[in-house]
Amino acid sequence: MSSLAKNYNRRKIAFRRGKGSFLYSTNGKKYLDFVQGIAVNSLGHANPYLIRAINKQAKKLWHVSNAFIIPEGEKLAKKLTQKTFADYVIFQNSGAEATEAAIKVARRYFYSKGKPNKNRILCIKNSFHGRTIAAIFASGSKKMTEGFGPKVEGFDHFKFGDHKALKKAITNKTAAIMVEPIMGEGGIKVIPDWCLRELRKICDKKKILLIFDEVQCGIGRSGNFFAFENSKVKPDIVPIAKGIGGGFPIGAVLMTKKVALSMLPGTHGSTFGGNPLAMSVGNAVLDQILKKGFLKNLKKISKYFYNELDKIKTDYPTLIKEVRGSGLLIGLQLFHNQKKFIQKLEDDKLLTIRAAENVVRILPPLNVKKSEINLAIKIIRNVCKEFKR
Ligand SMILES: *Cc1c(COP(=O)(O)O)cnc(C)c1O
Repeated sequence: MSSLAKNYNRRKIAFRRGKGSFLYSTNGKKYLDFVQGIAVNSLGHANPYLIRAINKQAKKLWHVSNAFIIPEGEKLAKKLTQKTFADYVIFQNSGAEATEAAIKVARRYFYSKGKPNKNRILCIKNSFHGRTIAAIFASGSKKMTEGFGPKVEGFDHFKFGDHKALKKAITNKTAAIMVEPIMGEGGIKVIPDWCLRELRKICDKKKILLIFDEVQCGIGRSGNFFAFENSKVKPDIVPIAKGIGGGFPIGAVLMTKKVALSMLPGTHGSTFGGNPLAMSVGNAVLDQILKKGFLKNLKKISKYFYNELDKIKTDYPTLIKEVRGSGLLIGLQLFHNQKKFIQKLEDDKLLTIRAAENVVRILPPLNVKKSEINLAIKIIRNVCKEFKR
């Protein structure tokens, strides 16, 4: 009997070790892992470069308080700001902490401008920004908030794609709009670039802030370092997490100078956030992802993957409704519930994970090999064939 609470619906499988794109179960089976801890292990399992970095740091220094200067964190923040729109960074340990920090930054910005009532955050209905008490109310999801009242105030919602409702929902109390450029849990729904640009225009016009939650779609996952990059939009605040730690828990909120200036000493903090061990791993992850040609190669291989998936869709038009996503954040939307399909893939040794709207989420490591994509395609094709019978 497990002493773990039942808050997860766990699959009956455990792993002994991992290597790159593969996981080895405790009962001796080898799986192609296209879950990768839900877009967390961006460089696959047991990456030698990351192992070296964490071992090296582990022998020197694990943790010191943020009461002191942490050079490894200075270095990672410098890399992130040099590479992106951001001027400043605050480190956290998880995605929910990062999105909540983003909300705090937005509110504090208007507070510092003498507008403490401008504090409401406008989000997409049934989005996902984490599981902490404020983040669940940011999602506007009945399922996630049920039984966790009283309701945390300060969030308004509009339906995905409903531009009229979005404009109507903005009041003089709105501080920021927060959206995922690609909704991960929500079913790999990509917000088109023109919509991101429109969001920026609306925010500029209303003088409110724009938050892009890149916890899942960021750090190379979409094919660009950030999923919003193609749109050329400059957001004000961007929470990140998942991929930046390569499997080590790291979160962060990135922001422009304008909004960062309100975050004075004492306004925010985290005991663990940004400790030397975490920062060393983050630096090593970025060394790899920012390497010349890394993202270019990712784009090329993902294009190949989409082409092959589209061929399968063409062959099984009554089974697969849509292949969608960007880079290696891929959704296979079925016409019916995806649970059995995911189980069959697992029986055939390919691990994938669900998302909303009957989507099978496919998340290879960002350094996946073409031969591994070919193996996945073969398995998916076989399952489609079986499923049809
Ligand atoms: C996973 C996720 C979060 C929450 O991250 P945790 O580390 O689980 O707290 C927030 N936002 C998005 C978009 C996510 O995908």
